[in-house]
Amino acid sequence: MLNYSFSMGIAVSSLLICIVNLIYTFIQGRTDKAQNKFFIIIVCILATNSITGIVSAIVTSGYLPLEQSIPLHKISRSVYFATHTALCPMFYYYVSKVSFVSTRIRNTRTLLKSLPFIVTEILALTNLFTNFVWYIDETGDFHRAWGEMLIYVAALFYFIMASIVLATSWSVISSKRKSAILFFLILAAAGVILQLVNKDLKVEVLAESVGFTGVLMAVENEDDRIDFGMDFYNRAALNLDIGGCLKHNRRLSLIIIHVTNYDIINRLAGNGDSNVLSDIVGDYLRSLVKRYYIYAPSVDTFVITIYKKMNVNVDELAESIAERFSKPWDYNDFRLQLSSTVMVADIPGSIKSTKDLFYMVDNPVVGSNNEGVVKGEDLKVFMRRQEVEDAVSHGFAENSYEVYYQPTFHLDGRLHGAEALIRMHDRKLGNLYPDEFIPIAEENGLVDDIDSFVLDEVCRFLESGTPKQYGIDNINVNLSVTECMKPGFIEEINEIVSKYKINKNDINFEITESIAASDYASLGNIIQKLKDQGFLFSMDDYGTGYSNVSAVFSLNLDVVKIDKSLLWGAFDDELGMIILENTIRMIKQMGKKILVEGVETAEHIALLNRLGVDYLQGFFFSKPIPKDEFVKYITDYQKLVAETLE
Ligand code: C2E
Ligand code: CA
Ligand code: CA
Repeated sequence: MLNYSFSMGIAVSSLLICIVNLIYTFIQGRTDKAQNKFFIIIVCILATNSITGIVSAIVTSGYLPLEQSIPLHKISRSVYFATHTALCPMFYYYVSKVSFVSTRIRNTRTLLKSLPFIVTEILALTNLFTNFVWYIDETGDFHRAWGEMLIYVAALFYFIMASIVLATSWSVISSKRKSAILFFLILAAAGVILQLVNKDLKVEVLAESVGFTGVLMAVENEDDRIDFGMDFYNRAALNLDIGGCLKHNRRLSLIIIHVTNYDIINRLAGNGDSNVLSDIVGDYLRSLVKRYYIYAPSVDTFVITIYKKMNVNVDELAESIAERFSKPWDYNDFRLQLSSTVMVADIPGSIKSTKDLFYMVDNPVVGSNNEGVVKGEDLKVFMRRQEVEDAVSHGFAENSYEVYYQPTFHLDGRLHGAEALIRMHDRKLGNLYPDEFIPIAEENGLVDDIDSFVLDEVCRFLESGTPKQYGIDNINVNLSVTECMKPGFIEEINEIVSKYKINKNDINFEITESIAASDYASLGNIIQKLKDQGFLFSMDDYGTGYSNVSAVFSLNLDVVKIDKSLLWGAFDDELGMIILENTIRMIKQMGKKILVEGVETAEHIALLNRLGVDYLQGFFFSKPIPKDEFVKYITDYQKLVAETLE
């Protein structure tokens, strides 16, 4: 009697728990993902088991006559075994889904994984004819047979497999999810053991139902994956999900859509929330793929994950997205034109870590070409960029930077000075040239440190006295114009130079015409202040920019460096010659000294002699070389000059 009430109470409780879980799941609409489906299957299995528990309690109570209770008992036990056998395999599939392990049957190995499930399920389903798993004798008593052991072994197999998936995914599952799944595993195991020890304690299904409620609250509830008021998964979810895919070698493609004029759109259409873009393009994106394949890792970026099983042609989809984004969008009463970049990247092809992923997500603009879809080869350039950025940022810690020197000469062949040029020797990437890493350093703000480093090295070199001894009048140091405009720049320069016993006019700063174009008045101010202290200034790369000539010359500079392209162009055609001749004539008339760089041949020198410039620099004399080599070069050069004079 007591046993009846106890079993009945337990079975009814677990049924109620399952029903509540199901209602909650459906009300919240969490039914569409494969993960959700496995969750619902498991809860349904537990609910069915609870119902068979109720029936079992009734038939074993002896209230019913044997001819009624035996068939009822048989039916309920059949249903129980048919469903309960599937519980552990389903839990394993559920955990796999949550951890982004592929559950597709692709080869014999993945087929073998589902074999225990298939075999035991067949055993359970055919038991009424075989009695391999259990049987009920004429007196209505229930007996186990060897098949039940097999079912336990299979369950243990999936239990272990699920644990392995969990263990290998440990780092890519959020801690909330981890504790919920562990909670379930412990409760389920406790239920099984209790019931094994005492078969009248029918608590296994109840324990599992309670445990699964925890899973519902922590795993199925996605509050931590979707930010309040947003439509799509957030950055943390993207991080964990892609982390899971990488961990388990899932192959998939990502389409990364970055809206580059978000600020304007937000101002035009925004009402203060960060959801503007989702409001504008959300419906369109959802029309392409199910919403749970879409992430919004930042206010202006969407990431769509395309798994193999979706049978989507990624390139075509990306093209059509790029095409759609090139057209205007209707939003409230506005017609908005978004500018965007669309990138396609493969995992694990071009994205090998979540760091790679977020690099792409956060640095979307590749080159100057903002149209169409970026993929394949373009991405390689892009990933290289990331490697270079890494190299730049750990360059100082790893001593990767070195200053090279390239000598400059008077027209008559005497040494004049040198230009300091930065080089980087990275452990991973080897030797890097400034054309590649300076623009990147300018973007992430590290160019200041590089320029300070170069200036410091140059001062140290000058203080040694060696350059002066061999006829180097001054050393040129390149400056980033963005840096000059920063407050405190003059103080920064002085702080470095004052550490050394040198003359300020031993240093000649080079600034570039093309960038200097933006704000001549304040740049002119800064230059004048430094010039008043004694520093010299050169205009670099003259002839490559589009700046206003009189503005350039308002910058009271000592030397104008004519860009190598002008020199080389003079040998290409007549027009090139006219440009070079007239440029030189004009600068001379303005009373500035002229240095021409890119001097590579005797013909170059002959021409420059005829045109009458002041200084020469180029590979004809020497490439930029390390300091020690440079010292040797100027020593030897002086000897050579002395010998020829003898
Ligand atoms: P730049 O200031 O115009 O430097 C001259 C560049 O022309 C150097 O390239 C030099 O190696 C190269 N060059 C000199 N003579 C010849 C020649 O006869 N033929 C050819 N083909 N090339 C020649 P490098 O060292 O690769 O530097 C590239 C650019 O990187 C520099 O152009 C400068 O804008 C920037 N840069 C270099 N060092 C620094 C630095 O310390 N700070 C900053 N902010 N920028 C730097
Ligand atoms: Ca330069
Ligand atoms: Ca130059």
